[in-house]
Amino acid sequence: MESQRVKNVVNSIEEISNNVDVQVATELELEKFNRIINRLDSFSNECEECEQYFTDLESHIKDLLEKNSTITEDDIKHHKQKINNSSTHLMKKHNLITSGFYFSVYMPIGTSLGVVFGLLIFENIGIGLPLGVGLGVAIGAALDANAKKKGLVL
Ligand SMILES: [Zn+2]
Repeated sequence: MESQRVKNVVNSIEEISNNVDVQVATELELEKFNRIINRLDSFSNECEECEQYFTDLESHIKDLLEKNSTITEDDIKHHKQKINNSSTHLMKKHNLITSGFYFSVYMPIGTSLGVVFGLLIFENIGIGLPLGVGLGVAIGAALDANAKKKGLVL
C-alpha cells in the first residue's frame, strides 16, 4: 500500500511532467523516481537515511512544482543527482539491484571464459565463444529472475 506521503510526491511529479515538454518529462525519469520513492518510504521506519532522502526528495519536488514550466537544465541535473544518490543508498544499504544487473555482470564473464576455454579445450574459438556467451546469458538471466522474485530489484 502506498502511503499518503508517497501519493503526494507521486502526484506532484506527475503534475510537473504534464506541464513540461515531453523531452524534459522523459528526463525526470518518472517511473524510476516512483520506484525509488516507494522503496525509500518502505524503509523509512527502520532507516534514518531513507527518511532523510525521502524528505529531501519531497522538498525538491515541491521546488520543481513551484518552478513549473521554467525548469532549467540545471534543475534536471540536480534531479538526476538526487535520484542517483537515493538509488546508490538503496543498493548499498538495502541490497537492491537494478533491473538486468546480473545479466550485465555475467554476460561479459561468459564471453571471456568462452574465448579462453574455446582456445584451451577445443582449440577453436568458434565453439567456445557461443558456449560461453550462452552460459553467461543463462546464469545472468536466472539470477535476475530470482532477484525479481525476491523483490530485490529496484
Ligand atoms: Zn536506507
